[in-house]
Amino acid sequence: MDPDDIDQVTVLGAGSMGHGITEVVALGGYDVVMRDIEQELVDDGYDDIEWSLEKLAEKGRIDESPEEVLDRITTAVDLEAAVRDADLVIEAAPEQMALKKEIYGDLNDYAPDDAVLASNTSSLSITEMASVTDRPEQVVGMHWFNPPVKMDLVEVIYGEETSDDTAELVYEFVESLEKTPIYVRKDVRGFVVNSVLGPFGEEAAWMVSEGDAEIREADATMVHERGYPMGPFELGDMTGIDIGYHVRKEAGVPIPPIMQEKVDAENLGRKTGKGYYDYEDGDGVDYDPDDLTDEFDWLRIEARMVNEAAKLVGGDVATPDAIDTGMRLGAGFPEGPCRRADKLGLDRILDKLQTLHEETAADRFEPADYLVELVNSGHTGEDAGRGFYEYGGTGGEREYRTLNVLREDELLAIELDRPERMNALNEDLMDEIEHVLNNADLDTVRCVTFEGAGERAFCAGADIGGFADARPWKRGTITSMFETVSEFPRPTIAKIDGYCLGGGHELALACDLRIATKGSEFGFPEISLGLLPGGGGTQRAMRIIGETRAKELVFRGKRIEAERAEDWGLINRAVDPDEFEDVASEFVDDIVEGPPVGLEIAKKVMNRGQDVSLEAALTMESQGFGLLLSTEDALEGTTAFAEDREPEFEGK
Ligand code: NAD
Repeated sequence: MDPDDIDQVTVLGAGSMGHGITEVVALGGYDVVMRDIEQELVDDGYDDIEWSLEKLAEKGRIDESPEEVLDRITTAVDLEAAVRDADLVIEAAPEQMALKKEIYGDLNDYAPDDAVLASNTSSLSITEMASVTDRPEQVVGMHWFNPPVKMDLVEVIYGEETSDDTAELVYEFVESLEKTPIYVRKDVRGFVVNSVLGPFGEEAAWMVSEGDAEIREADATMVHERGYPMGPFELGDMTGIDIGYHVRKEAGVPIPPIMQEKVDAENLGRKTGKGYYDYEDGDGVDYDPDDLTDEFDWLRIEARMVNEAAKLVGGDVATPDAIDTGMRLGAGFPEGPCRRADKLGLDRILDKLQTLHEETAADRFEPADYLVELVNSGHTGEDAGRGFYEYGGTGGEREYRTLNVLREDELLAIELDRPERMNALNEDLMDEIEHVLNNADLDTVRCVTFEGAGERAFCAGADIGGFADARPWKRGTITSMFETVSEFPRPTIAKIDGYCLGGGHELALACDLRIATKGSEFGFPEISLGLLPGGGGTQRAMRIIGETRAKELVFRGKRIEAERAEDWGLINRAVDPDEFEDVASEFVDDIVEGPPVGLEIAKKVMNRGQDVSLEAALTMESQGFGLLLSTEDALEGTTAFAEDREPEFEGK
């Protein structure tokens, strides 16, 4: 079976997850039956879907009307009727094994023989649920993240007997919904994301319990220095301290004293008004950059997460790529732990774990066999050419992690591919852009376009956390990407659809031409962080739109829409979304058909000429003109003109 053969999906449960999953499946074009045990519960879930679809429609995020999507959803209370014609059942009932087993027993009786049965469980064994059916090869885990409409990731988990066909079908089904699946090849506790995330809160809690750190210091460091979207204690309060507590109890691992104290006092986080922070009488989460210190040992936390990742890779549960994708999309990490570890050096991580293991004798620091193996065989990370990943050296061949690079004849199309972070710039992404441009074949590339993946942004700024290791004296490395783009000897076009802010705005300004959809927004929010646009933005904006308007953008930090940006001369065209690709193609076609050397020299003269006296600029221009006169392309251009035909430029 492949996703095209799926005519009907049944979702069991209309609660937080069930209704969200139903909505996404219906948005993906499938007919869905949503079943719960009482009509009132189904109706509540249906109302939630209706509300959410209306929100999506208001924001222009869906192509159909909410009614068209709702037409594909039916509701049910009777289980037998709900699953009778199902090709795929997604179970999102409460997290109790006894209940789940009862449901799987019923499904075995009522669902068609070839139906695939998928569970959204976060922590229970797929193998155990499958064991009550006589088709365990058709039972699989399909772990969504909350809320399904917003979160891109779905873990596809093998039970002991799950067949490849079943897992592949679910994987492709997830892709057909425009979500990102990752394979979890064994039914391990916590699957991938929760396994790696576990030590984030736990190790921080040990550090505070043992007097090695303060709560605010930990949260401030992990957020402001290491780039995580939330601090470990902030996250604990949000998810509920009891949740992590019970997971650890069940796993039989020691509980950090501070976690035990909070649970004993029933201070479980936001939901009870008090947790690590006080939401009732205090200011709630109130750490800030002033809480940063030089002493906080963040490596202790990151080393433990890397160790979990190494256990998963070594145990053939998941690949480094699946783990990194999972942590970025499922937990909002600025970069995956495997990639980050390769940059930090696996020897440094191993050394940290070994030292802590010797000092404390705690099992949790015991290094994973796979990590030890990597280090012993010299695979210590990026500097060594191999760690979790292989690095292709400095040659032209390289696998890009943050970009999609497409060569279409003479066009080099670069897509920034971090949609989960609105394509924000980080060190990897900037490094990869430089690598693509520095290795571009100038004999064949005649034009470069930049655009953003996903539906929301060209690029919404710089990912502060991505520069965790950047220090002011290394700033040169941050700005060099913008210079490489600006100096690239072929015309560059920024295709902007959505937010174009901060570093993303600077990237667009470093391009020669800019085309945007009408809803796109431009701005420099840096000033509100006490910063300024540091990737050439202040200077390029002044040259492009003049001092008055540039200062308005930089000083006020407010956004402007594409139509105003067009009025101001910040962009070349603001166009309706349905004309966007056509207009961009017209620009690209003109450039690709133009004379490469002529364009190169025109670009150079126009870029350089702005910074010298008019006299010197005019001299540059006439030298350029003289140079071009002697080219074959100029001869071809003038001959074609005389012969009244289209010229064919060869770049000579
Ligand atoms: P929930 O309590 O909000 O919803 C569960 C729903 O299932 C309820 O409406 C309940 O009436 C219904 N139900 C009970 N028995 C049923 C049956 N036999 N058939 C159909 N429906 C039945 O719970 P939830 O948060 O949506 O979680 C559901 C599952 O998803 C759990 O396994 C949970 O671990 C998992 N999960 C939850 C989250 C999360 O953040 N909430 C994230 C990922 C996975």
